[in-house]
Amino acid sequence: MNHRQRVGLIFPAHDRTAWITAQRSARPSILDPFKPHGFFLEEERAASGQVVSSATILLTNKECPWRCLMCDLWKNTTAQTVPHGAIPRQIDYALSQLRARPKQIKLYNSGSFFDSAAIPPADFPAIARTVAFAKHVVVESHPRLVGGEVLRFRDLLADSLEVAMGLETVHPQVLPRLNKKFELAHFSQAAGFLRDNGIAVRAFVLVKPPFLNEAEGLEWAVKSAEFALSCGATVVSLIPTRPGNGALERLMATGEFSPPRLATLEKALELALEVRGDGRIFADTWDLEQFSRCPICFEKRRQRIHAMNLSQRIPPAIDCLVCGSKTN
Ligand code: SF4
Ligand SMILES: [Zn+2]
Repeated sequence: MNHRQRVGLIFPAHDRTAWITAQRSARPSILDPFKPHGFFLEEERAASGQVVSSATILLTNKECPWRCLMCDLWKNTTAQTVPHGAIPRQIDYALSQLRARPKQIKLYNSGSFFDSAAIPPADFPAIARTVAFAKHVVVESHPRLVGGEVLRFRDLLADSLEVAMGLETVHPQVLPRLNKKFELAHFSQAAGFLRDNGIAVRAFVLVKPPFLNEAEGLEWAVKSAEFALSCGATVVSLIPTRPGNGALERLMATGEFSPPRLATLEKALELALEVRGDGRIFADTWDLEQFSRCPICFEKRRQRIHAMNLSQRIPPAIDCLVCGSKTN
């Protein structure tokens, strides 16, 4: 089956939002608006080249207004805007549980930090105070919400700001089908605005979004990383496309989507590292085992990917005697 045949087997050309929303299950749980729905510490290579401790806090807030084809973040959101003061309390709660004051802090909110229905702008000063110890703060935003509010938040912070944006893919047929509702020009304009204002840019790139086979998924992940770097992104985070939102399960049933193999993510990281210039390329290792087909070499491969994330170098390939190749 060629690409043209694969695209649009079941997925509609129009009213994608309604189709995507119709595939959803019920919202899984009622969340406490005064508690984040997740938080953890990890290590990350900073722009300086040092490996620093980094906290990620997954804020609880109102659902994102977009309906992207591959997104399951709505599962951990609320139907209504959280009360004034709730977001700073969530951050305080996570930091007290983590008992850490890491150099970097990511405030990820399952949507856009600059969506006023998600993060009340009146809370910006209190949020900035709760993270004043951090050298670098990372938030996420849809490119179309990058504007003056970003500068207001930047000016409240003690140190530097980075905005992460989901580029997802530069594939000209797949990007519109993801229902992101932006064009590449929006991404590059938003990235330019951020750079011009001294704000770092991080791009999320999908490895093997729907409608692409394994080889295309690899090829377009690398092309997308290159595009993000050319727009001035200093970090590209490669995300293996994960099912879980209902829509992707429907596309799996019709052959329009299958998750990438671990080897594809591993190779995408290697190839993007080769073209990174001064940028950093990371592969997302969360729940990585679902992409592996060989339990014997999985842990070695996970460690190899982690090592590439931290060192930005490419170690020798893993040659597995059980799955019989350098890839699995
Ligand atoms: S903009 Fe981001 S958070 Fe919102 S639906 Fe799309 S992928 Fe999900
Ligand atoms: Zn193996």
